Amino acid sequence: MRITWSSELVDSISRGLPLTVIGQTMLEAPLAGLAVVARGGPTPKGKLALAAVLQPRSLMKVPDIEGMSIKPKRGGVLVEDAFVVTPGLLNQLVVACGSWPVLVPLLYSSAASRPIADAASIKKELELFSSVVLATVEGIYRPSGARSPELELTLNPTGLSIRAALSGLDRIRRGAVDLASRGQGARPGRVYEPPPETDTEETVTFADVGGQEEAKSQLEAICQAIRDPESYRRWGVRPPRGILLYGPPGTGKTLLARCLARESGAALIHVRATDVTSKWYGEGERKLQEAFDWARREAPAVLFFDEIDALGRNRDDAHEATHRLVSTFLENMDGLEATEGVVVLAATNRPEAVDDALTRPGRFDRLVEVPVPDRAGRRAIFDVHIRKADRRAGRSVFEAPDDGGWERLLDASDGFSGAEISEAVRRALEARVRAGAVSGQIGQDELLVHTVSVARPW
Ligand code: ATP
Repeated sequence: MRITWSSELVDSISRGLPLTVIGQTMLEAPLAGLAVVARGGPTPKGKLALAAVLQPRSLMKVPDIEGMSIKPKRGGVLVEDAFVVTPGLLNQLVVACGSWPVLVPLLYSSAASRPIADAASIKKELELFSSVVLATVEGIYRPSGARSPELELTLNPTGLSIRAALSGLDRIRRGAVDLASRGQGARPGRVYEPPPETDTEETVTFADVGGQEEAKSQLEAICQAIRDPESYRRWGVRPPRGILLYGPPGTGKTLLARCLARESGAALIHVRATDVTSKWYGEGERKLQEAFDWARREAPAVLFFDEIDALGRNRDDAHEATHRLVSTFLENMDGLEATEGVVVLAATNRPEAVDDALTRPGRFDRLVEVPVPDRAGRRAIFDVHIRKADRRAGRSVFEAPDDGGWERLLDASDGFSGAEISEAVRRALEARVRAGAVSGQIGQDELLVHTVSVARPW
């Protein structure tokens, strides 16, 4: 058996390949077939990942693979420090590198994604991948006495679409989720009583924000400006007036605003862009004015504007309305100098779209990035949400993951926002609820399955 690939595959991986079936073939017993899927950069981190799903007729063991460097890894083997070969839960044998949104739960083990700097390195990775797949296939056929199939498989991006790739992978995932949620403690037929508190009612402190150390430390300094403006005046320096939080959706900007208000003892006045962008003449300005008046009355107060970019967004038909809105905003902000204890916080996913006038000195002059969390940040966010679940349930509902468990969770959540991590934890809890469970703990593999189910497959 030989595996080759077309030059289009190299091009499309380097341009950015969504999850795609790039090759498949029927095989004779003991294997049923081979399907190869891929996805690739260019993402900010530039990764390439490939996985082969082999469909054996019976439960598969990890084969002996000759001529390659092999290290044991829980649940499988690591080949050439690049790919994991593992038998999955459902009669699957998988050769993969990188995190796979729907395959990871079957692997219980994953290898790092591969860098894709240029065409030459993509070819090298494909070469390595092909030889690992071939050696694995060979390792399965040899002991059974059967001859390796004589065929050539060409990997090509014009194979099956993302939809086909997903439906196949999703079938496997659903099976795995189902198996995991029938774990210990699951008993049918019980009624679920929801916890008394919901997220929005709960008070939050900076300890409830996982990671985001830089943003937290900037906002902690602002706390002092709100609590004790005198400490600034004593030194003849103006307390910060406007802070712009910028970063992708779900990274915790609103959460940070709530913490700032809570920890500084200020009222939080939350204004959504849609509240003040109105097509009625004068309506937007009036609402904006009301928000500022309210903040002055309630001072100390944090006036929080979501999606601030919408305020200055140029709509073809509404240049003038936009202009009036921005002017009202600026007048109020500039006028805040005398009013102590009102801090204006704004958030945006698109800092480049924020009206320049707003970011001049004396206005939103502190720009605080709230990025997608890194590995340490993701771990901290998982911890926050696991602790929160424990607190609400009044007992320890999650088993503490071991080192390997953390590695897999953090691999599987690569690129996740805080909101996505919180959703993974929520899904794991909900699965137990739906299974009618009344006791037991959620294990690390179960949490992994639900984490993977949150991942977007591109
Ligand atoms: P958007 O830009 O879409 O408005 P956002 O950045 O304001 O998003 P939040 O609304 O603060 O994001 O986050 C949504 C939820 O995700 C939070 O209520 C919280 O449960 C969870 N979350 C996000 N980031 C974190 C974090 N760093 N630590 C803990 N939880 C987080």
